[in-house]
Amino acid sequence: MERTLSIIKPDGVKRGLIGEVVRMLEQNNLEIVAMKMLHMTKQQAEGFYAVHRERPFFQSLTDFMSSGPAIVMVLQGENVIARYRELMGATNYKEAAEGTIRKAFATDIEQNVVHGSDAPETAAFEISYFFSQLEIL
Ligand code: ATP
Ligand code: MG
Repeated sequence: MERTLSIIKPDGVKRGLIGEVVRMLEQNNLEIVAMKMLHMTKQQAEGFYAVHRERPFFQSLTDFMSSGPAIVMVLQGENVIARYRELMGATNYKEAAEGTIRKAFATDIEQNVVHGSDAPETAAFEISYFFSQLEIL
């Protein structure tokens, strides 16, 4: 049994895509075991994306992630990290496969609607960044 962190990014919330994304998670049997809405400060976004701090898009990315409310969720299931990343589609929406969330909704390489952890270690860090044990089913 594995867990991963999912975020509906501020562009997805602003554009009214919470329901669409949650529907795709449910239709693909990705079980939600925790969920809340929050608005990250710039500093909180920098802490979350600290692995990317040397990348040229770090300032822009953390401005974007702190620009409005986001939905954070914990998904749980067998092989859920890979299964959810497959459902998200490629980082660059132009390369995202048919049937993926980013193919359906993303409009920009940065404003790409959703986030998903990429490995068990990052999932553990990211889940604990937003949730206490008491908040996860
Ligand atoms: P995420 O970590 O958000 O799930 P990802 O794992 O597909 O996405 P990463 O390489 O971890 O992609 O990049 C993190 C985020 O940084 C991307 O989702 C996107 O919002 C932004 N990003 C990545 N590459 C670029 C780029 N070349 N230009 C602008 N923003 C980018
Ligand atoms: Mg990533």
